[in-house]
Amino acid sequence: MKKLINRPEDVLSEMIEGFLVLYPGLSRLSHHNVVLRSDADTVRDRQVAIISGGGSGHEPAHAGFVGPGMLSAAVAGEVFTSPSTDSVLAAIRAVTGRLGVLLIVKNYTGDRLNFGLAAEMARAEGFLVETVTVSDDVALTQSHAHAGRRGLAGTVLIHKIAGAAAAAGRDLPQVASIAQVAAGDLATMGIALSAGTSLHLDRPSFTLEDEVELGLGIHGEPGIRRIPMAQADVLTDELLRQILSNLRLSSGDRVAVLINNLGATTGMELAIVARRALAVLASRSLVVERLYAGTFLSSLEMAGVSISLLRLDDERLKWLDASTAAPAWPNVPRQSPASIEARTVDSADITQPISAHNPPQTSFGRKAERAIRAACDALVKARDRLTEMDQAVGDGDLGHNLARAAATIEQLLPALPLDHPPDLLRELGVKLQSVLGGSSGPLYGVLFLKAGNSLEGSAASDAKAWAMALVEGCEALSDLGGARLGDCTMLDALIPFARTFAEQVAAGVPVEDSLPLSLEAAEYGAARTSQMTARRGRSSYLRDRVIGHADPGAAAVVIWLGATIGELNR
Ligand code: ADP
Ligand code: MG
Repeated sequence: MKKLINRPEDVLSEMIEGFLVLYPGLSRLSHHNVVLRSDADTVRDRQVAIISGGGSGHEPAHAGFVGPGMLSAAVAGEVFTSPSTDSVLAAIRAVTGRLGVLLIVKNYTGDRLNFGLAAEMARAEGFLVETVTVSDDVALTQSHAHAGRRGLAGTVLIHKIAGAAAAAGRDLPQVASIAQVAAGDLATMGIALSAGTSLHLDRPSFTLEDEVELGLGIHGEPGIRRIPMAQADVLTDELLRQILSNLRLSSGDRVAVLINNLGATTGMELAIVARRALAVLASRSLVVERLYAGTFLSSLEMAGVSISLLRLDDERLKWLDASTAAPAWPNVPRQSPASIEARTVDSADITQPISAHNPPQTSFGRKAERAIRAACDALVKARDRLTEMDQAVGDGDLGHNLARAAATIEQLLPALPLDHPPDLLRELGVKLQSVLGGSSGPLYGVLFLKAGNSLEGSAASDAKAWAMALVEGCEALSDLGGARLGDCTMLDALIPFARTFAEQVAAGVPVEDSLPLSLEAAEYGAARTSQMTARRGRSSYLRDRVIGHADPGAAAVVIWLGATIGELNR
């Protein structure tokens, strides 16, 4: 397992050094892995101190939540290991004044023991200490034979609420009660797609093939059961079902929702889950006042999410909205998420929808229809081959994109202006740039647009005009993309084709003979790309590594040109 660390034994201290470098509002305690507010001394006697902590590997928890308005200090243990009693005690001594301290503990045996003993020792020293234990995990029922429900990402909401209440001047019994009652209105459940790997292991704590782990712990402990991998909406629904059945909310109740990345989940996936969660809660007539998504309490690089729901009233909402300088608390708008429809603005699309045309009336139109269909079929068939070629030198999307574009063009065939070559080519250009995407989209777009413009006013049977259109189309493509012949791109097939065709037509060779000859030139040019170094496109970053690999864009040109010509010459 590869990780960006130095020596495993230095991870904790180096991570804390990094936090200090990144966040000027944080300080550390010597001899302990404790991060505290830099202004801890100044506020010591002005507010109740709030301390939390736990094993490391859950970043940004807990150090990321230290700051005015949230935690006074965070105590870090080794990865997935509770911090020691003396570190907790050192943190208490460092930040606690005459108003006392609240310890927020996630319900794990090690954390409870170490924070509990430290609380006792601190009381013996004369400190006022209260403890709130958070056990928001609803995967486990209360009656199971286990050490009680675990503390999960919902704990961060309790940090926020307690921190805000303390900053607002509430006394210790009040802050403790606010936090304790909120913890009782909190439910979290998670799902893992793959586990993280601890620093001392060389493999993940569990492996999942086609399944996901439901109701997992944040230390790589397996969940309550495995279910088959399913679409995001299905998994989101399953999490919410369990959460809602635990919280016993009724219609009109107000909630805050926290969607937590367990470590390796992309922003893309978090957003997809967030949108579903909001829809499900709205369908239950719950009022989602705040929706947070991001990395709050992770589990190394575990892929997956947890969802937390907290019941809200005006006061709790005020605590959530109160400002804080804790670096990892998200700066979300203080408003409830409004409907997506209400915030969808109509785009001013300039491309006109194409209206249905009658079946082609001219012999050109009928031929064009068959030729385009053949070209599209060939691209769809070549999908896997082109994908493989693009994977070798690019990002592997070309086969898929061309096949998708071809299928779209084929569907649009009846609506294309088949009898009118300039319009037909321009229309193909407009469609291709829109559906193809990538670099090929605009390049094909300009090729066909320019060729269509060039053909304007010429007869459909004017071979010279077609040759000119091809040459000018290639020039426009070259101008837009900056590639020339020999740069290892689709132009290495297109230019030889256009030039040969122009030469043959100028020499008076009949079209049905010049087309196959020109195709041979394109094939030859495409094959030669395997000896070239790319100077344009994504493969240019690979430099000599592309030698031996033919350019997929050039290969694609040969495929659709070959199919088109095969059909025209039938
Ligand atoms: P990407 O995914 O890199 O954006 P595509 O997969 O859509 O691009 O297309 C890759 C092909 O596009 C290449 O194989 C090459 O033939 C062609 N190409 C890339 N850049 C250029 C360029 N500047 N000029 C001409 N063709 C290019
Ligand atoms: Mg590509």
